[in-house]
Amino acid sequence: MSEYFDGGCTCRAVRYRMTSKPMFVHCCHCRWCQRETGASFALNALIEANRVELLRGQPDVIDTPSNSGKGQKVTRCPACRIALWSNYGGAGDVIRFVRVGTLDEPDRCPPDIHIFTSSKQPWVVLPPGARAVTEYYGSKREWPAESLARRAAVLG
Ligand SMILES: [Zn+2]
Ligand SMILES: [Zn+2]
Repeated sequence: MSEYFDGGCTCRAVRYRMTSKPMFVHCCHCRWCQRETGASFALNALIEANRVELLRGQPDVIDTPSNSGKGQKVTRCPACRIALWSNYGGAGDVIRFVRVGTLDEPDRCPPDIHIFTSSKQPWVVLPPGARAVTEYYGSKREWPAESLARRAAVLG
């Protein structure tokens, strides 16, 4: 299995590569993610921006409101408008929230944690033993040490 994780939009005008595994994967059940995906949750792989290479295309960055009130920048294909990743106000431009569903092999990035389960749609049943929090959480308690070190390296 390659260490690369390639992905892209639906029309294939934009292609990208994550050059390593992500630091952490969120399955977010908040109402905002439900609306943005048109579904029941968003699955986001958190990874350093400098580990995401653009292979093809020139995506648009769209300022979008966010749950936190700080806003997010959503990177989309300029043709089919599929969202590829977000940058949120809190973590800034150095950490991307890559939409796992846009990876060619999304099965390789299952969630490390379920968040905002207070608004989880009731028919979504989490696997036994899955890590889950009703709202947000403290990274220091949940992230592996290796991922915390990676995050500290880019946040400075
Ligand atoms: Zn496209
Ligand atoms: Zn959310």
